[in-house]
Amino acid sequence: MLLVLAMTVIAHTMWAQVNLVPKPQKAQWQQGNYVLNGQVEVAYASNDLKPAADYLCRALDQAGVQATAKAGKRGQVCLSRGRGIAKSGYQLQIGKEGVQLKGADYEGVVNGVATLRQMLLLSKNEATIPLATISDAPRFGWRGFHLDCSRHFFTVKEVEELIDLMALYKMNRFHWHLTDDQGWRIEIKKYPKLTEQGGWRKYNNQDSLCLKLAREEDNSDFLLPKDRLKGEGEVSYGGFYTQEDIRQVVAFARQRGIEIVPEIDMPGHFLSAIEQYEGLSCFPEIGWGAVFTTPLCPGKDRMIEFCKDVWKEVLLLFPYEYVHIGGDEVPKDNWERCPDCQRRIKEEGLKDEFELQAWFIHQMEQFLNKNGRKMIGWDEILEGGLSPTATVTWWRTWVPDAVAQVTAQGNDVIYCPGDPFYLSQREQKSDLRSIYEYNLLPDRLSEKQKKHVLGVQANMWCEWIPTRERMLYMFFPRTIAVSELAWTKPELKNYDEFYGRLTDQFAMLHRLHVPYRTPSLDGFYNTNAFVHEGTLRVECKDPLATVRYTTDGSFPDKHSTQYSGPVKVDKTTNFILRIFNPEGRADEMTRADFVKQGYLESVANVPAVISPGLNAAWYEYGGVKCAEVPTAPFKGNYDVADVCIPEGVKGKIGLVITGYLNVPADGIYTFALMSDDGSWLKIDGNMVVDNDRPQSPHEEVCQQALRQGLHYFEVRYFDSNGGMLRLWVFDEQGNRLNPADIYRH
Ligand SMILES: [Zn+2]
Repeated sequence: MLLVLAMTVIAHTMWAQVNLVPKPQKAQWQQGNYVLNGQVEVAYASNDLKPAADYLCRALDQAGVQATAKAGKRGQVCLSRGRGIAKSGYQLQIGKEGVQLKGADYEGVVNGVATLRQMLLLSKNEATIPLATISDAPRFGWRGFHLDCSRHFFTVKEVEELIDLMALYKMNRFHWHLTDDQGWRIEIKKYPKLTEQGGWRKYNNQDSLCLKLAREEDNSDFLLPKDRLKGEGEVSYGGFYTQEDIRQVVAFARQRGIEIVPEIDMPGHFLSAIEQYEGLSCFPEIGWGAVFTTPLCPGKDRMIEFCKDVWKEVLLLFPYEYVHIGGDEVPKDNWERCPDCQRRIKEEGLKDEFELQAWFIHQMEQFLNKNGRKMIGWDEILEGGLSPTATVTWWRTWVPDAVAQVTAQGNDVIYCPGDPFYLSQREQKSDLRSIYEYNLLPDRLSEKQKKHVLGVQANMWCEWIPTRERMLYMFFPRTIAVSELAWTKPELKNYDEFYGRLTDQFAMLHRLHVPYRTPSLDGFYNTNAFVHEGTLRVECKDPLATVRYTTDGSFPDKHSTQYSGPVKVDKTTNFILRIFNPEGRADEMTRADFVKQGYLESVANVPAVISPGLNAAWYEYGGVKCAEVPTAPFKGNYDVADVCIPEGVKGKIGLVITGYLNVPADGIYTFALMSDDGSWLKIDGNMVVDNDRPQSPHEEVCQQALRQGLHYFEVRYFDSNGGMLRLWVFDEQGNRLNPADIYRH
């Protein structure tokens, strides 16, 4: 009997498990299917659920099933509210007689609809879904995504497509970055020039970089869409949303349970408005400073009124609890020189320009609170004092205490640290895991502080993202990991199992014609050393994709050699590999250098006194070339146990980390050097890893053949704004070596 029972359980899990993401809290799969056929009626038990029913009908239509919504409790699918279900949660019962979906609230019902949508899309036969009982609710209430429509503009249709996709992953907050230096995108009737002029620009350096990338990477996703250009001769780029457009998008999102958080970034990042209306900045001279643009002038009452006028119209369009005020990256030098700003500082009894910024933010917050809204700002709003009611989006990875600080003061926080939640950064091999395993509630937060963590969001800054294709490609698959991080309880999560479920998700995205990034090819490194013969092995996670390669330096195209098994080489060979999706769409290229080399001999004359660790010399270096680092003013020496930025080193950082590498046995060693910005690794004076360029976090993995014994070791590093540095060393068997064993100085 026991055996029979055990077998039944195994059979149950084998029958019809659907690889849903995010993983539900509780799912029981039963034998058999329910077929949605004929004219499906989606019944809604109360009128407020009609939009959810319409939304499900549309999803059924997309799956080739004709469906209509009707009031009442009888239909193949019935939507209703249920008692005893956790907030935003749902219960889904798919039986032989039909589908019962009960939600705790409207959001709960649409979360259940998202599950049904995935079942339909993952099913081989779209109208067939497995019998199941699912009971589910989110871990966090804030499951956000963000889109910057200023740097590059996205049409209403494109924004709606994104919202619809995010709803499929049960994301529920859309942080819409509507204004910035490069373009004002939301119509404000009182100030029409904001969009008439501020919504358009001559090609800027972001546009030209996109065009350059299109060429260099042979990728048309970087080309500027024609419908965003106007004029003849000197063309303008831009676009904006009318208030009617905004209402349409808000309604579209609301139907899918998604609240929109509009961001009007101030008092910095405001050039697109300052250029159109006089008297908003400290001085008439405006434009770009060393890094940022001229900010608003908090000394001028007219400016405060202008901002309130803008917010008045924005608030009418977005009927939600939260709005985002930006508050990031504000240069203070104008304020130091401006008589109006200095008068304000004096009158209000403020200490300095940081308090002036806080004063301005508080003015805006009071206004927003008076209008029944809660204010969110980037974590810079901590500087100069945080008001008791503001919520913070933490983005500066290099200010790791921000979450502890904000929550200790009793304020709410939303995680979106640049590493790894800025999905506009190129995806690194380790990103999916870093996102998936990110600890949003670390032990160092008290239980009380943990209650102030609202959740997490994925941010998409579009300086170098000019098209729908590039935008979706950057969002997926990393957003899938964000969704499960935000939704699923940690005890139900397992990265390897999640990674396995992704294969079905890729098939689903492909079915929806969503460009996504195939995870980095595996099986080789950037540089692969061999002494006699090398073998290129390629593992590709996506079974729908094909891999093609060249060895003559040209970009692989759809006629290049297809990889079909290990390729052996006996001389130095530089492969360029490229993934093609089933429609022939080319993905990004990967380099794999196979380098024939001899072993580097160990150092003959080792000094007598030698101890574990390395020496890190800090130079005050603000440039972007490893070779120049030691020419900058020397700041001090630090003993470090591993390759890292020593504690206490900040601001302008140039490092020269030196010592010996203690190699345990003759062999080929692997060095994974990750840095933001640039770095290099030299062994015995030979360049082993060349990561020497300004960049966001990037990992290069290279090999070198080494004899047993000590080798001269040098890592150089520079960083221009918020950095990281890490080196992992692996032996021939793939074991990571302990820094205490391998570093000497
Ligand atoms: Zn001023």
